[in-house]
Amino acid sequence: MSQKITAIRGFNDILPAETGRWAEVEAVLRDLMRAYGYHEIRLPIVESTPLFARAIGEVTDIVEKEMYSFNDRGGESLTLRPEGTACCVRACLEHGLTYNQTQRLWYTGPMFRYERPQKGRYRQFHQFGVETFGMTGPDIDAELILMTARLWRVLGLSEAVTLELNTLGEAHERAAFRAALVAYLEGHRTQLDDDSQRRLTTNPLRILDSKDAGTRAILADAPRLPDFLEADSRAHFDALCAVLDGAGIAYRLNPDLVRGLDYYNKTVFEWVTTALGAQGTVCAGGRYDGLVEQLGGQATPAVGFAIGLERLLLLQAAVQGEQTDSEADVFVAAVGEGTAGPALLLAEQLRDALPDLRVLVNCGGGSFKSQFKKADKSGAHFALVLGEDEVKNGTVSVKWLREPREQQVLAQTAMAEFLKTQHAL
Ligand code: ATP
Ligand code: MG
Repeated sequence: MSQKITAIRGFNDILPAETGRWAEVEAVLRDLMRAYGYHEIRLPIVESTPLFARAIGEVTDIVEKEMYSFNDRGGESLTLRPEGTACCVRACLEHGLTYNQTQRLWYTGPMFRYERPQKGRYRQFHQFGVETFGMTGPDIDAELILMTARLWRVLGLSEAVTLELNTLGEAHERAAFRAALVAYLEGHRTQLDDDSQRRLTTNPLRILDSKDAGTRAILADAPRLPDFLEADSRAHFDALCAVLDGAGIAYRLNPDLVRGLDYYNKTVFEWVTTALGAQGTVCAGGRYDGLVEQLGGQATPAVGFAIGLERLLLLQAAVQGEQTDSEADVFVAAVGEGTAGPALLLAEQLRDALPDLRVLVNCGGGSFKSQFKKADKSGAHFALVLGEDEVKNGTVSVKWLREPREQQVLAQTAMAEFLKTQHAL
């Protein structure tokens, strides 16, 4: 026997029972983008490897150990995108989209990271991302947060998520802070966990992210970034907070909130939940004014965010429970010799007359009882039964599946009109 082939670890099938909820969330996101005047951009899944090395930074977790990179047949190093921001900036530069104009863009699709698969963490996962370009002020940062807050309201998740907010200041402010932090931590080097000791020379700000208890104790007395911010950074952050206060959006100032990626400055934010265990960040974003220039463009301010769609759907399921939707409004049963064709034609007539009606036709025959079972399972409100008599007489037997009502026989030509008057549909 040949060996069974299965999906790759960390790469998930999204099965028919789940795709309905995915499509619903995607539709909500699409409507949200329309309501804010954002445009969709569709980007390739594979990019040349140096894009990510340059954009994300050589000494980040992603570039060091999480990328799916391979040489194509021509010997070029390619990478399955681990995130969308670098790709979006690459496309904007290539097509002059940020030249002398602002942009408000969104995209959605799979991302790839070689991580240890667990609940809420996969090797192929999906992000919904928003990127804006050309706007310096805190107003656009605020708009993004207002937009995400609206999304949680629409999805009924406001109670399940909280907003964490921080500012990273500018590169030179961070450099001054970094120097002070390194000087302080060097004095406690032996008390830090191994990862943090290594990061002391590679990416010291990431130490602020450490979950190690010993390291956290040392961090309690470490220098703080806010003390290194100058007037401009401070004013930017204060103005953002003022808008959020005005909109009644609660947030927690979290000075330890740094981003996994190197290119952020000023605003960083995350929407987090306690309902998903360790993988609690549903949405992460921030400002990255340096990235466009870093990738060879003219200096262009930018701010964006990304939502992990698997986590969003897990959170929805945790809050609202699994919901099974009906798959049809009307089930057409065809019982007996010569009824299958007429059943399909009746269904076509109904779809012509009622474009929103969901009609499921029994195909493949079967007894009345088995078809009735299928009708019930479909969630349909009506079963329209075509037996041999009905076909001969041009009628349909209408059965109410969700109400205790007598079956009724109607002319096939009257069916569409009858269904139009049914409030249950
Ligand atoms: P985390 O701290 O959870 O690893 P991150 O900082 O690596 O997240 P980002 O690069 O900011 O995440 O990606 C934005 C969002 O994408 C995350 O907040 C999360 O919702 C989602 N995400 C990131 N990595 C994964 C993954 N491996 N599987 C599923 N979702 C993910
Ligand atoms: Mg990560």
